Amino acid sequence: MIELSTINDKSIDQILTKLENKTEVNASLPGGGILHIEKEIPYLVIYRQRKNDPGTYRMVISEASYLIIGNEDFEGYQKLLYLISNQLSATFNAYMLFEMYAGVAGSNTFLIKAPANKLPTALDVLKQELEEINNVYSGLYLQAQIKDTPHRHAEGDKCLMDLEAAKECGAVLISLEIPPVYRDEEENLYPVFFRGFKDYLIPAIHKFMYDYIRVQTSYQVA
Ligand SMILES: [Zn+2]
Repeated sequence: MIELSTINDKSIDQILTKLENKTEVNASLPGGGILHIEKEIPYLVIYRQRKNDPGTYRMVISEASYLIIGNEDFEGYQKLLYLISNQLSATFNAYMLFEMYAGVAGSNTFLIKAPANKLPTALDVLKQELEEINNVYSGLYLQAQIKDTPHRHAEGDKCLMDLEAAKECGAVLISLEIPPVYRDEEENLYPVFFRGFKDYLIPAIHKFMYDYIRVQTSYQVA
């Protein structure tokens, strides 16, 4: 475990060197951030620390590769993300930065913000998979929407990087807003439902990612 109290060129170098030589990197980062990367995984799931957001964080840390963005030095995190993407996109042809955040209380919509015309098939798979959750939990009436926007993050948040930077470092930015049906309006988690919901959601997201990667790879071949 690398422990970093600041993100600067030296500490980023430390992470990148480890990433080059090891299969997995763990780091604690400023403001309560955590980085856990497995080098074989072509995506990084991202979550920004927030107050009063029970459950959402736990979905992210069940992933094989994730970054929890702490609540200080956002610019440092941006730089770190850029350089990690730059390094790992060389292996995978692209590196997916997949941010997850909770929608407002009462929302029934999964909102996928993505470059819709660049990965239509994979996004359709995700939309469909997410809506099939209604077959497991009747009465939720959840829907999924795809929004083509350069701002692939929660409203009011800053971009992880702009699209020009993403292009330069080989990152593909996607965000998923999750309707917070796993907790009540006072932000108390429904523990049993939460586990089931998470166990449905995570494989659905993975199916999307691997479909996307398969297409990426075939582009490379063609
Ligand atoms: Zn933005």
